[in-house]
Amino acid sequence: MSFDVEKIRTDFPLLRGNPGLAYLDGAATAQKPQCVIDAVSRFYSEENANIHRGLYHLSQAATAAFEHARERAAAFIGAREPRECVFTRGATEAINLVAASWGGANLREGDEILITHMEHHADIVPWQLVAARTGARLVVAPIFDDGSLDMEAFAKKISPRTKIVGAVHVSNALGTVNPVKEICALAHAAGALALVDAAQSSAHFALDVQDIGCDFLVFSGHKVCGPTGIGVLYGRAEVLEKMPPYQGGGDMIETVDFAGTTYRGIPGRFEAGTPDIAGAVGLAAALDYVAALRPHAQAHEEALLEYATEKLLAEVPEIRIFGTAKEKASVISFRLGDVHPSDVGMLLDTFGIAVRVGHHCAMPLMKRLGVTGTARASFSFYNTFEEADRFVAALRKIRGMF
Ligand code: PMP
Repeated sequence: MSFDVEKIRTDFPLLRGNPGLAYLDGAATAQKPQCVIDAVSRFYSEENANIHRGLYHLSQAATAAFEHARERAAAFIGAREPRECVFTRGATEAINLVAASWGGANLREGDEILITHMEHHADIVPWQLVAARTGARLVVAPIFDDGSLDMEAFAKKISPRTKIVGAVHVSNALGTVNPVKEICALAHAAGALALVDAAQSSAHFALDVQDIGCDFLVFSGHKVCGPTGIGVLYGRAEVLEKMPPYQGGGDMIETVDFAGTTYRGIPGRFEAGTPDIAGAVGLAAALDYVAALRPHAQAHEEALLEYATEKLLAEVPEIRIFGTAKEKASVISFRLGDVHPSDVGMLLDTFGIAVRVGHHCAMPLMKRLGVTGTARASFSFYNTFEEADRFVAALRKIRGMF
């Protein structure tokens, strides 16, 4: 089956409505296909009620839709059971949940949390918070200049003190794809747990938590064509079951008494309060939509990455690409001579091209690369070769202005 990108684009109202726009910022958030918008709208129009507590039909329908979404999420990442998927606000909240709950209960003075130098702030700051509370220490594995992880150094950083390893699957700032299976195996060999930040990878290729061998994996709905405000924490059932609640409130309890409270099993224990029910329903539609397009969508993105990279290097003077690892997803981080990335971003916007500029929530990585920020074009499966051409042509013109 060939991949008909023009046909795919007709699924996206925002792209249809803005034919002059080249949206190259899928790494920040993906555009939404009509089926996702319809699923959210249909839920509010036809099924809206609060979940889990109602005996009436509508509430049961809403509960079924929410729990069906959990099944779809579990299938999307190859979880053994739906109860291994906790709905969160996104990847950020999912990592905070693990750091606060698992970390708070298990980390002690002298323990180590090992992460990589290319982590997003979402996989740095929650660990710093729990480290400050527990006396644990954050240890950082170095990267090479091409933006790949130094696996030898990584392996040496793991010790009996390491209690958990956190690694990004695909770097949002560089596109680097990390060998997460190997990372998880190294962590387990040392008796540590492993968390994979799949916020970016979930948008690019199929995930299988059992094959990866991780204890935790997190992703955000909005980067996989789903709504904002909903995401997933996958946790191995045996690990989740031993974790204390993250937040307290309605729906996460079994019984409440002023003398003491008992909690639900997983995943309900971690879902205090009314969740984003419509968001979960929209997420399920998004995951089914994206899964049906793979692997053709992935091959299309890879072709776009190769095409745009070669063209940039051949045609744009003084372009410098950050992140040239062999295993790389369709993210191009760059600087254009000494032109400030903010100027590049603003000028590209005048050509109708949307890219992100700045530190990409990876300030330690930027420091390591010796820059304060970059401009970043990220290609999604709905982007075209023509958009890549326009992007390169605009950069040539911008270079000529300075
Ligand atoms: N990790 C990575 C690698 C990301 O790219 C992002 C989003 N930029 C996050 C975590 C956080 O995701 P969210 O803001 O959706 O919680």
